[in-house]
This record gives sequence, C-alpha cells and structure tokens, in this order.
Amino acid sequence: MSQSTASPSTAPLPFEETEIAIVGAGIVGLSVAHVLTRLGISVRCFDAGAAGGAQSAGGSRIMRAAYNDPRMLWLARKASTGWARWEEEAGRPLIERTGSFLIVSEAEAELKRLAGLDLKVRFVSPAEQEELLPVHRPWSRPVILEEEAGTIRARDSIEWLAATLGDALHEHTPVLGLTQRAGHVLVSTRSAIYRARRVLVAAGMQTPMLSGAMGVKVPQVYSVHQRLLFPMTSDLAARPMVSFRDKSDHRHGVLYTYGLPALHDGLFAVGLEPSDTDRSGGGHPDQVIEHTLALAAETLPGLDTSRFTIESCVSTSLEHPDDGAPWESERLEVVRRGAVDFFAGGHLFKFAPALGEMLAGMVLGEEVPAMLRPE
Ligand SMILES: Cc1cc2nc3c(=O)[nH]c(=O)nc-3n(C[C@H](O)[C@H](O)[C@H](O)COP(=O)(O)OP(=O)(O)OC[C@H]3O[C@@H](n4cnc5c(N)ncnc54)[C@H](O)[C@@H]3O)c2cc1C
Repeated sequence: MSQSTASPSTAPLPFEETEIAIVGAGIVGLSVAHVLTRLGISVRCFDAGAAGGAQSAGGSRIMRAAYNDPRMLWLARKASTGWARWEEEAGRPLIERTGSFLIVSEAEAELKRLAGLDLKVRFVSPAEQEELLPVHRPWSRPVILEEEAGTIRARDSIEWLAATLGDALHEHTPVLGLTQRAGHVLVSTRSAIYRARRVLVAAGMQTPMLSGAMGVKVPQVYSVHQRLLFPMTSDLAARPMVSFRDKSDHRHGVLYTYGLPALHDGLFAVGLEPSDTDRSGGGHPDQVIEHTLALAAETLPGLDTSRFTIESCVSTSLEHPDDGAPWESERLEVVRRGAVDFFAGGHLFKFAPALGEMLAGMVLGEEVPAMLRPE
C-alpha cells in the first residue's frame, strides 16, 4: 500500500517567525503581549487552554497597595495608575474603586505604619462598615479602610486584553518545548515551530516544568485553594461593596479570611487560609470548605449560605523556606537563561499593567529589573 508524503501526519511542521514569544496567556502573559502589540512589536502569545483559564480565572480580584516591601508598594502604585490608563483605552471600567477593609490584631500600629507609607487609610465606624460592606456584620475590633484599593473586574480585563491581541493570541496551543539556538529560540507547538528572538515564560504553575526541561531551576511552588461563592440576598446584590481581609479571627483554625464581590450573578466570594496550610497541600479541602461555611454563616448574614459553589484553584508563589506564608508572598522573580526569561511569583493580578510594562521592557533588551533579580 503506497502512502502519500503529503499526508497531514507526515508533512513537516511549518516554521514561523516572531520577534517575541510569550508562553502563557494568563493575566501576566496577556499584559506583556498587550504592551508589546501596542508598541508594534511582532509577538505571539500561546496558551495551552483558553486565555485566563488557569489562575487568572474568575470574576474579580482585590487591588490594594498595602504591602510591607517598598518595592511591592511601588509596583502596586504604578499598577493603579496603569489600570486607570487601561480603563481609558478599553472605554469601560476594569476596577470598582470601592476601597478594601483590613482587620488585624494590632490595628493602631498597622494604621500608623500604612499611613507612614503614604497610603490613604483610616478607621471606619460600625455604621460605616455596614454601609460599605452590608453583607458582613460589623466587626467588634477596629477596621482599617484602604481608600484607594478596589475590586478588579478580572474577567472583563482578561477578555479585553485578549481581544487587543487579535491574531497574536494562540489559544489551545500548548508550547511543548523551547530550544536555544544561536540568536534565536525555537518554540515548538503541535502545529508549527516558531523562531523567536526572545521568549518570556509566564506559564503560572507550569513554569518550573518548562524551565526544568531546559535544566533551569525556577524556585516557584503552588498550593491548592478552595473558595466558596454565595448568592447575596436580593436587596444587596446590585450594591457596590468593599472587599475585606481579616487576619484577626483565628476561630475554626483559620489564619486569614477574605471576601469580595464576585462581580457576576450577584455572588460574593469567601476564602480562607487554614493554619495548617503546608506549602504543597494548602490544607485539607473538606475542612477548608466546612470552616468557610461555618465562618460565613456566623459573620456574613447578607449571604445565602445554604446555596454555594466551590471554586478549586491553584496559587503560585516563590519558595520561602524561612519567612512568610505563601499567600503573603512579597517577592517576584525572573530567572534568565540566554534568550529565555522565566517569570515566577504570586498574587499578581493587581500588578498587571505595571508588570506588563516592566516585563515588556525587559524582553526588548533591558536588563532584568533589580526587583525581579533572584536574591
Ligand atoms: C482564588 C484566587 C484568588 C486570588 N486573589 C487575588 C487577589 O485578590 N489579588 C491579586 O492581585 N491576585 C490574586 N490572585 C492571584 C492571581 O490571580 C494570580 O497570581 C494571577 O492570575 C497569575 O497569573 P499568571 O498569568 O501568572 O498565571 P496563570 O493565570 O495561571 O496563567 C498561566 C497560563 O499559562 C498557560 N500554560 C501553562 N503551560 C503552558 C504551555 N506549556 N504552553 C502554553 N501555555 C501554557 C496556562 O494554561 C495558563 O493559562 C488570586 C488567585 C486565586 C487562584
């Protein structure tokens, strides 16, 4: 039986050219690709699935600047200006500038510290708490409002960024491997091999796997996280609301609870970090769900806790052998090998416009910015 050499199974893969290839179309990859596209640079952004379908999925994220590390504070501020610029470009709101509550044990000291960083912060009375976050019952301890914080319209942001890329976005196109050659990198996919001058890997939890295949260690870990989405009672569903981060309530074995409007279908998202979190496991899912339900029933009377959806998600962070918890990670890192940059970090959504600019500048020939160099 004769076989045609032109059959699809034996045809050689086409080679295509691009200046920059980006692996991963989460919020980071999309932001960088967006900046490069606006500069008229030839770019291809690949995702194994749909854009924003991994860690960047979901309706909303908290935007805040209250960081300890001055570099992260600077990045968050730069990002806040960037979000305003993107909103203008997009012609639609991407942020609900409602503010965010922070509840900590040493509230006086924390307020002073944050004010010292030039953040607009103040205590809010129980009456104002009810006004700004009507789904929650007022706290019995002081509540700090970070006035310039807000809630990011995450899904809208992903959709808008993806749309700005046009043909440069290749969804459902996993990058299978990267091969360094003199003067370029070969990016292998199932349908073509791309010759790129430089490559940025922003593949979320898969970044260490892609780097490992090139013999490069990227010190990033991930944990699995369950959060619950509850319907708000009908009178509250349409009201703008602040988000909250409560680090003071340690009942139910909890270190940290957060909540924010999901910004779709009148839902409110509640998540927690259990105190027995280990770096790889992220706590036991059944207990996390049980504790989240118990907390929501006690503290969030504006939610219908009899009906909920469970979202299972992954969060990356840099390895911190000695300091800090993964969800409080205050470090981002780029590991550079030749013409390939591997980006790693966590809690990134809020930084998107600033990271987009910073990483775009980097792949266009600048040095790795000081704050992203391995320590
Ligand atoms: C529940 C939850 C709540 C969060 N809350 C906040 C918050 O309030 N504020 C905040 O700032 N951040 C928050 N974060 C963190 C933030 O969402 C993430 O840090 C951010 O979305 C990560 O974006 P990314 O682009 O790095 O990764 P991802 O969104 O994971 O994108 C990586 C992409 O790479 C693709 N990929 C992987 N391997 C390949 C391959 N071989 N070829 C092609 N593509 C590949 C994946 O399909 C994926 O789409 C939260 C995260 C979660 C999960």
